Amino acid sequence: MSTNDHHGEDIESIGSGSGPGAAAAVTPPALLHRSLHQQPYKVSSAKGIYLTLDSGRVVMDACGGAAVTCLGHGNDEVLQAVTRQMNTGVSYLHSLTYTTEAAEQLARHLIDGPHGGGRFGLEKAYFVNSGSEAMDAALKLARQYFFELGQLDKTRFVARRQSYHGTTIGAMTVGSNLPRKAPYACFQLDTVSWMTPAYAYQYSNWKQGETEEQFAERLVQELDRHLQDIGPEKVIAFIAEPLVGATSGCTPAPHGYFKGVRQVCDKYSILLILDEIMCGMGRTGTLFAFEQEHIVPDIVTIGKGLGGGYSPIAGMLVHKKIIDVLQKGTSSFNHGHTYQAHPVGCAATLAVQKILRRDAMIDNCALRGQFLHSLLLETFQHAKYVGHIRGRGLFWGIEFVKDKATRASFPPAVGFGIRFQSLAFELGVAVYPGSGTVDGSRGDHAILSPPYNVTEDELRKIVHVVKLAYDRLEKDID
Ligand code: PLP
Repeated sequence: MSTNDHHGEDIESIGSGSGPGAAAAVTPPALLHRSLHQQPYKVSSAKGIYLTLDSGRVVMDACGGAAVTCLGHGNDEVLQAVTRQMNTGVSYLHSLTYTTEAAEQLARHLIDGPHGGGRFGLEKAYFVNSGSEAMDAALKLARQYFFELGQLDKTRFVARRQSYHGTTIGAMTVGSNLPRKAPYACFQLDTVSWMTPAYAYQYSNWKQGETEEQFAERLVQELDRHLQDIGPEKVIAFIAEPLVGATSGCTPAPHGYFKGVRQVCDKYSILLILDEIMCGMGRTGTLFAFEQEHIVPDIVTIGKGLGGGYSPIAGMLVHKKIIDVLQKGTSSFNHGHTYQAHPVGCAATLAVQKILRRDAMIDNCALRGQFLHSLLLETFQHAKYVGHIRGRGLFWGIEFVKDKATRASFPPAVGFGIRFQSLAFELGVAVYPGSGTVDGSRGDHAILSPPYNVTEDELRKIVHVVKLAYDRLEKDID
């Protein structure tokens, strides 16, 4: 069965049923979930873009979890690759002593050839088990680079408000998802500062009357001035997502912003770490989101679409400039995890990446993305609470606002984003909800990030259901 010819459900037959919580009332879960009151939906099988819940309901996965499943669910070729690796008996080895063909081939696949990171001087790949770990590894490697150069005063990072880089202490520290950080403020390193988000839709960032280029230029100047204020000799790196995912709903930066940021980093000998954990690996229509900004980072972190959900894998690709310094210095990066470059995970990931390349799926992502964009614009053009639709490739955010003229968001108590997600799910489509589009704790958006092999017909169904959910919510609010 191809990934797209699942069960033949039509919109009427997907969805309908009770929400999470019902099963929890009968049998309290032994597993500690994110919420103690609400049990997540149990999924019994999945194929392509369809999830079948324990109850028998079928839901279209229009967000791939959190922009993870680039290939859809249940791909037979990936299953075979995993089985082949398991059949070798090499299901685990410690990376301090061993490597595997799967891990080496995966690294080569990502670095070498006309499609690899080597085109940009990214010459080594490092694999860990989650995006947060990849960010922590990037922070430490960046520090080590200057340590090896004898620049020991470099201890600070500069990041941006409304950013999310993960949950581990290091990744959380450089991120700015305020509600998630609040209870752990006591752990904050005091060596991070935050710049204005490159997010023009919100007036708090963008001054009315400014052109896109002027807005970009102002933000670049803000960074330059801030570095002068704190002393660039103390700064290790500037950290940013090329398109901001969870905290802003797929917002690309204004034209020229990243070019300016790269120039400022070079001017002051500061590294540029780009977090492409959510927006990378083809999600925006090119392998790396930074390609569309015409710049090259010193470290890029990748995750989600790397393994496409077939293995818990993430990593970083590292520029030659850093490797050269390490090579002349200690020649080591003393940072390891028991399961890093896991053989089965690497085999699954290699299969995912080979399929994406063989079937030109990233091109398909760009093409289908244009279709989805125009469908969204057409469908929501008159929706009174849809303020902004933005994104690239198959990574689209819909921002909900209380007032389109002022762009004011709903008060958090309304819970617009969560209610929207819940209604869409009831009607049979999973979207990824988000808040923080205004100041990290207010504002609502939903993310659509289906797999790269989604069909036009599936996109039509998704948008149709999403609009039904929106209409219901609009009525409820009014
Ligand atoms: N960076 C970004 C941009 C993310 O979106 C995420 C996860 O949502 C992370 C880092 C952390 O990744 P993980 O959840 O795999 O630790």
